[in-house]
Amino acid sequence: MPRIVYVNGEYVNEKDAKVSVFDRGFLFADGVYEVTTVLDGELIDNDAHLARLRRSLGELDMAEPCPPEKITEIQRALVQKNSLSEGLVYLQVTRGAADRDFAYPKDAEPTLVLFTQEKSIADNPTAKTGIAVITTPDIRWARRDIKTVGLLAPSMAKMEAVNAGADDAWMVDGDGFVTEGSSNNAYIITQDGAIVTRALSNAILHGITRRAVLALAQEADMRIEERKFTVSEAENAVEAFITSASSFVMPVVSIDGRQVGSGKPGPMTNRLRQLYIDMARKSARPAA
Ligand code: PMP
Repeated sequence: MPRIVYVNGEYVNEKDAKVSVFDRGFLFADGVYEVTTVLDGELIDNDAHLARLRRSLGELDMAEPCPPEKITEIQRALVQKNSLSEGLVYLQVTRGAADRDFAYPKDAEPTLVLFTQEKSIADNPTAKTGIAVITTPDIRWARRDIKTVGLLAPSMAKMEAVNAGADDAWMVDGDGFVTEGSSNNAYIITQDGAIVTRALSNAILHGITRRAVLALAQEADMRIEERKFTVSEAENAVEAFITSASSFVMPVVSIDGRQVGSGKPGPMTNRLRQLYIDMARKSARPAA
């Protein structure tokens, strides 16, 4: 069944969805995006995603296409029109179409596009075995806190991983510290049981799942250290994992071909994944 997508005020068949060749998203990657998980037909942690969208737009002096409540309405309409039970709603805002010029146009109307994707997230079988990551230099720009559609560098990192027979890449800054995964935040668990993940800065995306998982870890009395870690520290960790809206908490069982801990998803990672899924399901189906 063809998808119904949203483009600038209209719900259309995906085959009929069109954006101008002069759109600055196309010409300059002058656009930002968000990905919200859908579980049991409900949007998970969506207000936090829309707050981050507003921040990304603000950092780029880009107009809001409509108020957040209207965006939520569109997201819900798409979930319903596409009978989506589990998966993602992708949303993208660009500065709009204007004759090609590096300076921002004064009068362009922002472009707003949303579409859904089906995906098994809570029961993703990969969570039982975990993923393998490679490490690669982080060649992205310096404002990774802004969620722009300029995703070629992480796409190259992902392909390097795929070509090496791995699942994803952890990107490493010039000082040898891991920044994050190609599309996720990165964590290790040290021999003495601390969860270590890089602190928020312009060097990483401020993950919505990261925030929720750290709050759950704190509630569960787990120790958290928000600081940089090196690749060799990661290789000596007892567990490692990633978080993102589309993977929740996903175990990492090898780094550059070296097994992490037992080489299987570890108990703390599994517990965090379960805590997150329970929280997400509860928020999707609040008690009456
Ligand atoms: N870092 C990067 C570079 C990402 O692309 C993503 C996912 N878009 C994340 C982290 C995770 O963010 P979230 O938990 O909000 O999906």
